[in-house]
Amino acid sequence: MVCAELGIDPVNRASTPRPKVLARPAHWQAGAAVAQSQAMTKPAAVCFSLACGHTAEAPATACPRCGKPMRSARQVAVLGAISLVIGLLLAVGMAVIAWRLAPGMLNPGVPDAEGSRFTGTAAQGRQALVLFACVAAVGVFSALGGGWQLATGRRSRALLVLMLLALVVVALNVWRTFQLFPS
Ligand SMILES: [Zn+2]
Repeated sequence: MVCAELGIDPVNRASTPRPKVLARPAHWQAGAAVAQSQAMTKPAAVCFSLACGHTAEAPATACPRCGKPMRSARQVAVLGAISLVIGLLLAVGMAVIAWRLAPGMLNPGVPDAEGSRFTGTAAQGRQALVLFACVAAVGVFSALGGGWQLATGRRSRALLVLMLLALVVVALNVWRTFQLFPS
C-alpha cells in the first residue's frame, strides 16, 4: 500500500529518476568534452567556395557537397598567414601614409614642416583620405580573416564578405577620386 502510494504520488514519482539525473552529468561531461575537442580540432579539408564552405574531418581533394576542390589544413593555414600579413601591411601602411599626408591634404596650399604643400582642393584632399581609409579597412578585414583562419583552421565567410564589400567601396572611391582629380 505504501509502495502503491509512492508509485502514484507525483512528488515521489518525480524523485525516483533522481539517480539517473545524478548519473547524467558525468555522461554529459564526457559528451561535452568530445563535442569540444571536435570543435577545437581543425578540419583536414576546407571547401573555399563562398556558397558552400563545407569542412571535412578527413583529407579530401573534392568537396563532397559541391564538388569544388578542397584546401588542405596546411593550405588553409598558409593562405591565412598570407592574408594576415598582407592585411596588416595594408592597414598599417595606409594609416602611416594618411597620418603623414592628412595635415597637408586637409589644409591645401599651406606648407608643412618640410615646406611642401598640397596643391589640390580641400575636396580632393578629403577624397584621397577617404580612399586611404577604405584601403585600410580592406587590410583590417583581411588581417582579421587571416588570423581567424590560422587560429581555427576554418575560413570566416563573414569576414571575407566584409573584406569583399570593403573592396567594392574602394573601387567606388577610386572611381570618385579619378572624377575629382582630372588628369
Ligand atoms: Zn563545397
